[in-house]
Amino acid sequence: MQTTADLHPEIREAVRDLCRQFPDAYFRRIDERRAYPDDFVAALLAAGWLAAMIPEEYGGSGLGLTAASVIMEEINRCGGNAAAVHGQMYNMGTLLRNGSPAQKERYLPAIAAGRLRIQSMAVTEPTTGSDTTRLRTTAVRRDGCYVVSGQKVWISRVRHSDLMILLARTTPLAEVRRKAEGLSIFIIDLREAIGNGLEVRPIANMVNHETNELFFDGLEVPAENLIGEEGQGFRYLLDGLNAERALIAAECIGDGYWFVERATRYAGERIVFERPIGSNQGVQFPIAEAFIDIEAANLMRYEACARFDAQRPCGAQANMAKHLAARASWQAANVCLQTHGGFGFASEYDIERKFRETRLYQVAPISTNLIFAYVAEHLLGLPRSY
Ligand SMILES: Cc1cc2nc3c(=O)[nH]c(=O)nc-3n(C[C@H](O)[C@H](O)[C@H](O)COP(=O)(O)OP(=O)(O)OC[C@H]3O[C@@H](n4cnc5c(N)ncnc54)[C@H](O)[C@@H]3O)c2cc1C
Repeated sequence: MQTTADLHPEIREAVRDLCRQFPDAYFRRIDERRAYPDDFVAALLAAGWLAAMIPEEYGGSGLGLTAASVIMEEINRCGGNAAAVHGQMYNMGTLLRNGSPAQKERYLPAIAAGRLRIQSMAVTEPTTGSDTTRLRTTAVRRDGCYVVSGQKVWISRVRHSDLMILLARTTPLAEVRRKAEGLSIFIIDLREAIGNGLEVRPIANMVNHETNELFFDGLEVPAENLIGEEGQGFRYLLDGLNAERALIAAECIGDGYWFVERATRYAGERIVFERPIGSNQGVQFPIAEAFIDIEAANLMRYEACARFDAQRPCGAQANMAKHLAARASWQAANVCLQTHGGFGFASEYDIERKFRETRLYQVAPISTNLIFAYVAEHLLGLPRSY
């Protein structure tokens, strides 16, 4: 398959080498058991791939978002699911950009070495959903700590993480000028918190995605775990979300190429009416169209990454890349399933698994409508719709 922009060929080759040890059958088994790919994650951590964006002074590789996104893309392009690990790649960014020198010294070298997992970020709440700034979880300063009470939902990888980034309200909504003020970010040591004010309840879901409800009941968080300035957490969060969106766009691109490659191969091999099904325009044109859409989305993904790496504003491009890539991968998933006819439904072809996995990205980490609302308001100057 000839693609337009496969940057960083040396990283791709090395990640593919690692992924070859974890073939389709491995991920299929993990999916069937709703298990976590521990061996795969351990191999990625040992090889240092998840520390790509940590500066060299803290033991990482000091690479940019473009290179990091190639790592995530290749995992999905090889048939895996980077959702098991992508938090480790970007959650540390909040600490890196906004943490104190002491916090960075304390956590980043251990994260880079794979001794500490920072896989989780807790933002979403059951009653407020996409209206993030109205979230109700509170962190109240008392003596040397903050006392956290409230509830979160859909918080991923908590059972496979040591640290979690938490967004909570430190100043009541009624007392701030703008909704986005009065929110703060904390680093939560899950090893101490779970069972001591934090309860974790797994959510059974459509994908093999380790995700949970969290209940905070007077969890005491040391004051030194506040990241940056109290009340500025929402602003800090936004910078990190751009990286998350660009990385997830890259995962969708990886999925998209995987679907196109599988569909193309099958269309060439499957003989019906005494000829390959791929010789019918009704079969080959949708595959070609899916490929074109992935190629186009890929260019926006690289634009978002390049801007992030150049420290230029990239919110619009990260949002648009995530939307285009998620839509293109979903379209490619549909085409791939259709091309395989009944066999697309058989687990051993892995298409139904990847089909479920890639569907998630039109809802998380931000749903499509919220991206439309952002573009309409911030790029087109239309009235805010919510
Ligand atoms: C598997 C999974 C893993 C996740 N992991 C995490 C995680 O690790 N951490 C975390 O914090 N969150 C996580 N999430 C949550 C995810 O980010 C949210 O589900 C997502 O942002 C949408 O929020 P919601 O589910 O509350 O939907 P809602 O906000 O209730 O929206 C429901 C629907 O209404 C639409 N809608 C809402 N408001 C408007 C409007 N004004 N205009 C037009 N349409 C609107 C939305 O687009 C959506 O289609 C995860 C979710 C899933 C499913």
